[in-house]
Amino acid sequence: MKNTDKTSRRQFLSGSAAVATVACASQEVSAQSTDYVINPPDVVSMEIHGSDERFPVRRVFCLGRNYRAHAFESGDNPDINPPFFFIKPRDAIVDSREGHPYPSVTEALRYEGELVVALKSGGTDIDPSDALSHIYAYGVGLDMTRQDLQQEAQRLSRPWAISKSFDKSAPCGPLYPVETSGHAVTGRIWLSVNGEVKQDSDLSFQIWSVSEGIAILSRHYELMAGDIIMTGTPEGIGLVEPGDVIRAGIDGLGEIEVDVT
Ligand code: MN
Repeated sequence: MKNTDKTSRRQFLSGSAAVATVACASQEVSAQSTDYVINPPDVVSMEIHGSDERFPVRRVFCLGRNYRAHAFESGDNPDINPPFFFIKPRDAIVDSREGHPYPSVTEALRYEGELVVALKSGGTDIDPSDALSHIYAYGVGLDMTRQDLQQEAQRLSRPWAISKSFDKSAPCGPLYPVETSGHAVTGRIWLSVNGEVKQDSDLSFQIWSVSEGIAILSRHYELMAGDIIMTGTPEGIGLVEPGDVIRAGIDGLGEIEVDVT
């Protein structure tokens, strides 16, 4: 398609790129100004509580072992080893109401209920005292894990990627903007499976607070608007099977229900 060929461009926009055109005006501008050899990837976005607008996702950073009791249950010692980061692809994030299809290549699918942080701005070497000013919203999400692949990776000292970063591995609920809901710094975080509470903790038990996590992460990456941080899970992790119903909630951020299918 050439930029000068308005007829074919209209056909292009009314056809394969129609979803992107509806979803985001800036995508339409982009499609009109640049020729791509394949359709550009869809914008991944998250629902915003109380709004028809959506939050576009840039990257998904995750914190590992950010609650003491969970670090211990994972065989780690948080007094010696600090939390750490890993990454999921942006399209790991899906609306929690879509459910969670049991992933391939695993026989041990693990849930982890987590506080999700969405950034509206970023930078490098962010001061902890300034970190919260970069947050657009908070939400509830699940860091689903192929536990058998993770244990194999740990045994062989290999990356965790395929155990953590698989398709649709982060079902998330709507975001609650700071502007209307304030900052989620303390409050109960819980998760149940088929009505039985499995995880029940408080955000105040995070080893790296949200402010500290953003500050430390910004030494490693230039953080930007659209970046998501999953801030780690408390103790009580476990496995789920197809047919199980996971519910998770955080004070002030609602509850999500995720059907494992
Ligand atoms: Mn996690």
